[in-house]
Amino acid sequence: MLTIGCHLSFSKGYLSIAKETVKINANTFQFFTRNPRGSSVKELNLADVESFLAYAKEHGIHQILAHAPYTLNACSADEHLREFARDTMADDLRRLEFTPGNCYNFHPGSHVKQGVEIGITYIADMLNQILKPEQTTTVLLETMAGKGSEVGKTFEELREILDRVTLSDKMGVCLDTCHVWDGGYDIVNHLDEVLAEFDQIIGLKRLKAVHLNDSQNPLGAHKDRHARIGEGHIGKDALIRVVNHPALRHLPFYLETPNDLDGYAREIALMRDHFQK
Ligand code: FE
Ligand code: FE
Ligand code: ZN
Repeated sequence: MLTIGCHLSFSKGYLSIAKETVKINANTFQFFTRNPRGSSVKELNLADVESFLAYAKEHGIHQILAHAPYTLNACSADEHLREFARDTMADDLRRLEFTPGNCYNFHPGSHVKQGVEIGITYIADMLNQILKPEQTTTVLLETMAGKGSEVGKTFEELREILDRVTLSDKMGVCLDTCHVWDGGYDIVNHLDEVLAEFDQIIGLKRLKAVHLNDSQNPLGAHKDRHARIGEGHIGKDALIRVVNHPALRHLPFYLETPNDLDGYAREIALMRDHFQK
């Protein structure tokens, strides 16, 4: 069975987002834990969480993916911004324990002029401060396009972060098809080789989720502009091969394409139609 969904707005809470998910024939969803630009967040509505958990079980939503605000920078040169990223993520992880056993994805960060090594050190330090042995949430590093000074544009950089995290079994990776393509990994013509490289450097067992996006830019562009499925440089056929690949087909796939709900429904239907039984 294909597990697929899309990024949806959390504004009305868990139950409402789960209902939207069912409406578009999806069986998972991604959401921002808080406004990507702001930091403030309402206390969790526990009644909403409870109705969601019951509804999700009933409707075959077995996993969901939380996404940290993308403005957080765990490797900023500014100590206060690093502390802000740490405290915000720690608070997100605390809240996510109310919906246990899911994943929390974040962008490793931008080192700006400090260099990638310092960036990696700060990111791993932060993770070592916030991960807890008792947590049930798996924290995912997202593969990045390499825009500006983003850390995580190569599998090697992600591996280095993972190597420095003490509670290693709490960590995984989310592969974004647009980002790896923009980062220079040719998933159109060499998907097998890219995944073999991922396996060799990071380990496919670390891969917990896939962001399914086309890209507005050519291979290696380091831009990070998502396109709708079939409207970019990756193309529909390559993305259909991604969801069917034996190393990936069991994973949850999340569309982050520029779409309204109907557009997402069409892309989900397209992927379901082409998913080999
Ligand atoms: Fe992301
Ligand atoms: Fe993504
Ligand atoms: Zn992106």
